[in-house]
Amino acid sequence: MAEKHAEFIVLGAGPGGYACAFRAADLGCKVVLVDPRATLGGVCLNEGCIPSKALLHAAEVIREAGEISDWGIALGKPKIDLDALRARKEGIVEHLTGGLNGLATRRKVEVIRGTAKFTGPRSIDIDGENWAFDQAVIAVGSSPVQLPGWPEDERIWDSTAALDLREVPKRLAIVGGGIIGLEMATVYSALGSQVTVVEFMDQIAPGADSEAVRILHAALTDQGITIHTSTKVAEVKATKPALVLRCEGAFEGNIKADAVIQAVGRRANGPKVAPQAAGVEMDARGIIAVDRACRTNADGIFAIGDVTGNPMLAHRATHQGHVAAEVASGHAAALDTDLIPSVAYTSPELAWAGLTQLQAKEQGIAHKVASFPWAASGRNLSSGGGDGLTKLVYCPETHRLLGATLIGSNAGELLAECVLAMEMGATLEDIALTVHAHPTVSETVAFSAERALGTLTDL
Ligand code: NAD
Repeated sequence: MAEKHAEFIVLGAGPGGYACAFRAADLGCKVVLVDPRATLGGVCLNEGCIPSKALLHAAEVIREAGEISDWGIALGKPKIDLDALRARKEGIVEHLTGGLNGLATRRKVEVIRGTAKFTGPRSIDIDGENWAFDQAVIAVGSSPVQLPGWPEDERIWDSTAALDLREVPKRLAIVGGGIIGLEMATVYSALGSQVTVVEFMDQIAPGADSEAVRILHAALTDQGITIHTSTKVAEVKATKPALVLRCEGAFEGNIKADAVIQAVGRRANGPKVAPQAAGVEMDARGIIAVDRACRTNADGIFAIGDVTGNPMLAHRATHQGHVAAEVASGHAAALDTDLIPSVAYTSPELAWAGLTQLQAKEQGIAHKVASFPWAASGRNLSSGGGDGLTKLVYCPETHRLLGATLIGSNAGELLAECVLAMEMGATLEDIALTVHAHPTVSETVAFSAERALGTLTDL
C-alpha cells in the first residue's frame, strides 16, 4: 500500500531533471524531484560541465600568460596553488547549486534526497518509502564506462576523479580522445603534466570534421600533448613506480604514467531505477527509448537526457525536460530537431552542429562547402588567437546550411549563429547580408557565406 503520493515525480536532478521539474511546476503541477546527491544539478553542475570549465579557464589563463611574452610582456612562470584552484572551482559549483535550491523552493518543488526505484506501473520506492505517482520522468543520466580487465588502483581516475584535482601527476596518460579526454588533456597539460592521449579511432574527436580536427591535433601537440591515434591499450599493469599501459596499433609500446584517466564514453543509468518493474522497455545498454514527446512505451512515464541515449549532452536533456513537462501537462510539444550542437572546450575550441562534409557525402546528400580561415580574421589575430577555421556545409540548390564546424577561440559561442540559421532555414544570402560587427570573429561565418556566393573581398 503506497504511503505517499506524487502527482508528477522526476527521478534525477541534473540539467534535464531540474529543468523538467521547474517547467512542470511553472505549468501548475505539484512536483517531487528525487536525487541522491546533497545538491541539485547532477553530473553537469557537480562533477562535469561546470567544474571542468572552471579548470579550463585556469588552463587558458596559464597558456595565455606564457604566450604574452611574444607581445613584449613577461609575466614569469605561474605558481599554482592547487588547493586555492580547487576551492575556487568548488565555490563556483556551490554558488550554482545553491542557486538551483532557491529556484526549487520558489516553485514549491518538493526535493527528496534519496535513491528511487520503480516497484510497479504507478509506484516507486525511495530509500524504503513507498510512493504512488500519476506521472514520472526518468532523468537519471549516465556514468563513466570502466574498461574491463584493468587493475584496481587509485591512480586510475574517471572524469569525476580527474576533476577532483587531487594532484598534478608528472606523467598523465588519458585513454580516449573524445571530448572528456581532450578537455582533461588541456587542463592537466597547462597545470604541468606530461600528457599522452591514446585514441582507438584514426582521429581524436571522432565524428567531427577532419579538417578542423587536424587544426586541433596540431594545437594540442604544440602544447606538448602527445597523441597516439589508431592505438588501443591492450593491457594495464600497476607497478609501484608507475602504471604501465601496453599499447597496440599505430603506436606499439609501453606508456608509463603516474596517473591514468579513463575517458572512453558514458553508459546510460537506466538499470539503476529498475524500469522493467513499471513495464518500461530498456535495451541491453541501459538506454530507454522515447518518442519525440519523450514518452516511453509505458503510459504516464517519460524519459529524458543521457538515459535516452546519444548525444549525451546537457542542453539536449534540458530541452527534452521542457518537452516532457509540457506533454505531461497536456500541451502539444516535441523535441522536433536533430540539431544538437557539440562543443569541445579545448584550446582552441572545436564546435559543430548538423552534418559534417563527410556525413553529407556518406549519406549521398547534395552539398557544397565554404570556409574561412581564422588566420585572415583581424579580430582573431589581434586577440592572440591561433589557427582556426569556420566551415559551412550547404545545399547547392536552396543555399540553406546543412552543417557548420568551427575551430578557434570561443568557437562554441559562435556556433549559436549557425544553429539558429539552420533552425530558421536561413540561406547563405541571409547570413552574408546580415551585418556582422567588425572586428569580430563572427565575421568568419558571414565571410564563409560570402565566399560561397562569390562576393567575398576579405580573401
Ligand atoms: P566520447 O564517446 O566522446 O569519447 C570516448 C573516446 O574514447 C572515443 O573517441 C573512443 O573512440 C575512445 N575509446 C573508446 N574505447 C577506447 C579504448 N579502449 N582505447 C582508446 N580509446 C578508446 O566519451 P567521453 O569523452 O568519455 O565523454 C562522455 C560523454 O560526455 C559524451 O557523450 C560527451 O559528449 C559528453 N561530454 C560532453 C562535454 C561537452 O559537451 N563539452 C564534455 C564532457 C563530456
